[in-house]
Amino acid sequence: MNNQSISQLSALLAHKEISAVELTKSYLSHINQYNNDINAMITVSDDIALQQAKHADDLIAKGKHTTLTGIPIIHKDIFCTEGLRTSCGSKMLDAFISPYDAHIVAACRSVGSVMLGKANMDEFAMGSANATSFYGPCHNPWSYGKHPGGSSGGSAAAVAANFAPIATGSDTGGSIRQPAAMCGITGLKPTYGLVSRYGMIAFASSLDQAGPMARSAEDCAILLNTLTQPCHRDSTFAHHRQEDYTQALNQPIKGLKIGLVTNAFEHEGLDPKVLEQLMKSIDTLKSLGAEVSEVSLPNQHHSVACYYIIAPAEASSNLARFDGVRYGHRSEQTPDLESLYINSRSEGFGEEVKRRIMAGTYVLSSGFYDAYYTKAQKIRHLIIDDYESAFQKVDLLISPTAPSVSENIEEANKDPIKAYLSDIFTISTNMAGLPGISVPAGFAHGLPVGLQITAPLFHESKLLQVAHQFQQATDWHQHTADLSQCKQGGA
Ligand code: GLN
Repeated sequence: MNNQSISQLSALLAHKEISAVELTKSYLSHINQYNNDINAMITVSDDIALQQAKHADDLIAKGKHTTLTGIPIIHKDIFCTEGLRTSCGSKMLDAFISPYDAHIVAACRSVGSVMLGKANMDEFAMGSANATSFYGPCHNPWSYGKHPGGSSGGSAAAVAANFAPIATGSDTGGSIRQPAAMCGITGLKPTYGLVSRYGMIAFASSLDQAGPMARSAEDCAILLNTLTQPCHRDSTFAHHRQEDYTQALNQPIKGLKIGLVTNAFEHEGLDPKVLEQLMKSIDTLKSLGAEVSEVSLPNQHHSVACYYIIAPAEASSNLARFDGVRYGHRSEQTPDLESLYINSRSEGFGEEVKRRIMAGTYVLSSGFYDAYYTKAQKIRHLIIDDYESAFQKVDLLISPTAPSVSENIEEANKDPIKAYLSDIFTISTNMAGLPGISVPAGFAHGLPVGLQITAPLFHESKLLQVAHQFQQATDWHQHTADLSQCKQGGA
């Protein structure tokens, strides 16, 4: 039951072969059995889920349902949920209960989906292994000792462990695509502005974008249809015409021009086994009639350095609001106002977040602003130009999502620079605001590998079409992790 697609579950619900309450209970009991070990969820909201499931059953009984009515979903804990803790993976917000829903949370509720809870994540979405979470590491369902990627590691692990058929994530430099790759699921980072950021806790506002995570491209398309509901409360929301992202899925991709990003070959950290899977995926795409040629993005190698100036700069400003005064953690040691600020922030933030705030404050300080921040913005434009010229030659670009598969959890936080470099193939997409998807493309060393496809602005339909066609020709997305290796599950 728990590894069925949205369409299959939706049909069972519509034909009353199962009720939304029964379906919800079955997912909740699976979560209760395995979450202690996998730690994909920070909060499980049984009561809210059952209430929403009852409501979904009412909608179905009245014939007022949509495809997502009664479908269980898990939201990354970066999205505000009314009446339910929103921690953003941080001690700073451990006791924070939002008075309102994020736009996408409300959108999912409006179509009758059932929220099972909130997914684990790197603190304030800073990380690539879910290892900076205040709530402890999340384990990769494919291998207990490995991390699930990050920062939406909990969302990816939750889908891979069948805790829910769909989840939401956010992607500032790769945080939907990279964990999707590491957990063998599909994850889409939409065009910047396509999905409202209202109620999504800000990390780097010019890069942050929410998106769907699911087993298949088809399920991502169904969820994207709801996530893109119009919003008037986010000034960067792109009032793009509403599309049905499922419409083009079944169209053949014959004649489509795909550019293989050759920069990947030059990256010294690229695992040859990951490359092998990429080459096999190219053969699959060619067999479907796609024309594959080589394309280079000459400035991509600057993207990580550039990102680690722009993202921390924006983060240092965004995180200034957590001062112990309005909301968030307040220190008990507050002899005067200055120590209230210093102690609350010192106690509430973890090491990686502090590192980013310090780097961001430094690059924005007078005297260094032009040397670092302005220069990084100029390089960002060169990266955008590279994509523009590439898309004059080809329709889409492909590369590995990440240079390697998931590592041991203990290795994850040892070397920040190494962790930063693991986003080399995903970050430039955010710099240019482009949409990108990661689809399961086989295994290396027994762990999932992702194929990344990138498209011009607002070409999500094309991305989903190629991903779906690829998934019609392969079955990597249908493989299921064996949870019996988990301590309690296996006992
Ligand atoms: N790993 C990157 C970082 O730590 C990207 C995170 C993200 O996309 N939220 O900043």
